[in-house]
Amino acid sequence: MEAVKRALLTLRRVSLDFVFPPLCAACDEPLGKADAHIVCNRCYDSLIPCLLPVQRPEEEKAFAFTRHFAAFEFDDRLKRIIHFLKYDHKQSVGERLGQMLYERVPVAFFENVDSIVPVPVHHTRRRERGYNQAEVIAGVVAGGAGIPLMPDALRRVRSTRTQTKLGKTERIGNMEQAFAAQGRFDGQTLVVFDDIFTTGSTCDACARVLLGAGAKEVRVMTVARVV
Ligand SMILES: [Zn+2]
Repeated sequence: MEAVKRALLTLRRVSLDFVFPPLCAACDEPLGKADAHIVCNRCYDSLIPCLLPVQRPEEEKAFAFTRHFAAFEFDDRLKRIIHFLKYDHKQSVGERLGQMLYERVPVAFFENVDSIVPVPVHHTRRRERGYNQAEVIAGVVAGGAGIPLMPDALRRVRSTRTQTKLGKTERIGNMEQAFAAQGRFDGQTLVVFDDIFTTGSTCDACARVLLGAGAKEVRVMTVARVV
């Protein structure tokens, strides 16, 4: 009886997939057999490599970190992929992005690096979402590079939800007070990891806090950068 029920369920799933094939979350085209779940290979393959310098001339404040590696330009396709990862609990997308990032980062970037530190999310947001997406992606990179991940090095002391209402200078001040170091990192070289780099103020604030806790050097790595 159990076997019949299982066979019927399988048949239903197969026939539904045939009539309504699942669509790619980024381009709305049907997913093929070779595609991973959720996002099609064409979308992953068409992401644009980011070639911007660390500090752009229009950025008035000098960053506290020394290098920045971003794998891709933040375009509409990547926006949809990352949005999906953030709000629909799709860990497999995070793992794929982590793998793609790891394959692109120059080996020299990891020279002398002691640990990778994901930018923490505020605990209420983590509770809503169930996980920190930056930590998922950073975990794949750390595993590939054989570098320890330190998810608890920084703590978000308050939520920065109201950030959009503030002016640029206020936003920088607001960010620096948003994080606290948990422990000392004397003499260490650390990589701060985030999913998207917009103005750089979040990564810069994290770098300043880690340097204040003794770190010798902080580098930044992100999946994408707004160009
Ligand atoms: Zn697609």
